[in-house]
Amino acid sequence: MNQATDRTVAVVTAAARRLAAAGVASPRVDAELLAAHVLGVPRARLVLAGDMSPAQRERYAQLVALRERRVPLQHLTGVAGFRWLEVAVGPGVLVPRPETELLVEPVLAALRDRRADAPVVVDLGSGSGALALALAQELPAARVYAVEDDPEALEWLRRNAAARAAAGDRPIEVVAGDATDPAVLADLDGTVDAVVCNPPYVPEGTEVEPEVTDHEPARALFAGPDGLSVIRALVPRTAVLLRPGGVLVLEHDDSHEQSVPELLRRDGRFTAVADHRDLAGRPRYATATRGG
Ligand code: GLN
Repeated sequence: MNQATDRTVAVVTAAARRLAAAGVASPRVDAELLAAHVLGVPRARLVLAGDMSPAQRERYAQLVALRERRVPLQHLTGVAGFRWLEVAVGPGVLVPRPETELLVEPVLAALRDRRADAPVVVDLGSGSGALALALAQELPAARVYAVEDDPEALEWLRRNAAARAAAGDRPIEVVAGDATDPAVLADLDGTVDAVVCNPPYVPEGTEVEPEVTDHEPARALFAGPDGLSVIRALVPRTAVLLRPGGVLVLEHDDSHEQSVPELLRRDGRFTAVADHRDLAGRPRYATATRGG
């Protein structure tokens, strides 16, 4: 270890202390990720990266000060990791959360069993496109549609879709429109093999971190007093989109363990309704199969 690296370690340690004092949930990791970002190396290489130049030091100090003010880490680095991808994110779009990565698994499982040549997959309320793009990457034969109606989110979605297509993944179809509108993707009604959806579902009035309230789009997060106003409208729409035997994978709030499966059962068109927990043990998403 050279002295230069020792200096970087000291700078990062001081930054981590400041972030901890500001209430940041993972201060050391964030301090390291910002340093790695400034130095242009992966975090695992930070210890070998040597010292920061004066310009890099200054940039680092600016980024740490912003993180201290609870600007989301991913807005500062400009990217969020999701499954095997990195997606570009910033103001105007929800930062994809690690727990949402789990929604990909039941889709993979369902389509693995089925020998469709080109399964049709729809992501309703796609935001940055994380789910749609992960599915396009992990199911190379699938035709993936990503529906989003927010103009700012659509810009991020289009940008991410173009980047993944340029990287060689099968291009996804970006559709501008309201996911609950029966006219949107009406040509696919009754033919879709899988619908994934991470809708707004946080009950209004729920206390959330300053990163979320101050920097993330409220309309991607909140959905009425019980958090179900969007899900209520989405359930019948997905029943129409799916073919018999098609699967729905729907993220929800940790207060929805009973209510979302109940909504799906009450619709009458779904079978095999089940609810699932995330890695922190919190109720997080429901799955169901279109009957018929
Ligand atoms: N789980 C996210 C949060 O608490 C909310 C995501 C959503 O509403 N779709 O920040």
